[in-house]
Amino acid sequence: MQNAEPEFPFQPIAEYRAYKTAIDAAMLRVCESGNYILGPECAAFENEFAEWIGAGNCVGVANGTDALVLAMRALGIGAGDTVLTVSHTAVATVAAIELTGADALLVDIDPATFTLDPQKLADTIRANPQRKFKAVIPVHLYGQPADMPAIMEIARRHGLLVIEDCAQCHGATLGGKVTGTFGDAATFSFYPTKNLGAIGDGGAVVTQDATVATVAARVRELRQYGWKSRYISDTTGMNSRLDELQAAILRVKLPHLRADNQRRRGIAAHYAKYAVNPSVTLPPVRAGAEHVYHQYVVRSPQRDTLMAALKSHGVPTAVHYPQPVHSQPAYHGRIAIGAGGLAESERACREVLSLPMHPRLTDEAVIFAAEKVSAWQP
Ligand SMILES: *Cc1c(COP(=O)(O)O)cnc(C)c1O
Repeated sequence: MQNAEPEFPFQPIAEYRAYKTAIDAAMLRVCESGNYILGPECAAFENEFAEWIGAGNCVGVANGTDALVLAMRALGIGAGDTVLTVSHTAVATVAAIELTGADALLVDIDPATFTLDPQKLADTIRANPQRKFKAVIPVHLYGQPADMPAIMEIARRHGLLVIEDCAQCHGATLGGKVTGTFGDAATFSFYPTKNLGAIGDGGAVVTQDATVATVAARVRELRQYGWKSRYISDTTGMNSRLDELQAAILRVKLPHLRADNQRRRGIAAHYAKYAVNPSVTLPPVRAGAEHVYHQYVVRSPQRDTLMAALKSHGVPTAVHYPQPVHSQPAYHGRIAIGAGGLAESERACREVLSLPMHPRLTDEAVIFAAEKVSAWQP
């Protein structure tokens, strides 16, 4: 008799169950307080998350997309500006740029790390002297830091602002420095499946250097109708607040985030050891980086058959992302593309496959999945 196939629980519910007692108590505390919007939980979470990241300021907002919009608006980005980012990302990165009124220009990725290729960034800036480039948004995709030293050097040389999209990299480091502390601002998402996830939507803008107090203060105004004081709008803002329930839940989970990221690296180590197959490329870690494996993404030219083979063994996988942003219907044919085109972004979308990855998976399940990858023959 064979053993039953191991289970692959869905991350959000597995996480709720792991912290149920504390989360239930936190939710009840908020309900009983009567203070549901911009109260003590949000303020406390902002301080705790800023400290956790090692940043000067944190402002809680409604989600990661708004965090990008608010960071850009607070930095003065809008109509007439061009913001550089990648096409191989969650569509939210690009949608947020356009929501500010700015134009997006998409640059290709380095195929090994799936992050912004600094050389192509430099080439693109040089090839478009007529454009008013205002900022660049590197995305630390899948939990792997982008090449921040090179990107910062290019950005500073060309007078560009840098906003790090940290929706997938809570706590990842490069050269011992935490992602989200390299640029002029950084944005986080607390969508339920992220490394730090709420039970609903949530996001944050984090700022770092000396100008920060102003940028963070601007985000605070913009997230609430542009109010400097109650009922009086100094600028035209929006409504994008991190609510008290979500903040209280995030406060329960934050103290576990370092251990959870460590567990993700442990799972990655199992894959590196057991998912060995000449037809499958495992993800390398950038030199000097501490990866946080939001996703564990392998690549293979026969991705779809690998996915089907794993599914036949009860191993759930996903494709992040099946289409690069520039070829999706909303953007195709009108979005600007960087020097050298987007061939690596297009190839990545055809070849990537995300294996099961979250802290609540058992070693047994992970090794089972890894052995099925290893045994697969295209
Ligand atoms: C999830 C995500 C976002 C958007 O966050 P939401 O909270 O869903 O709005 C932005 N960028 C990246 C890279 C993401 O993964």
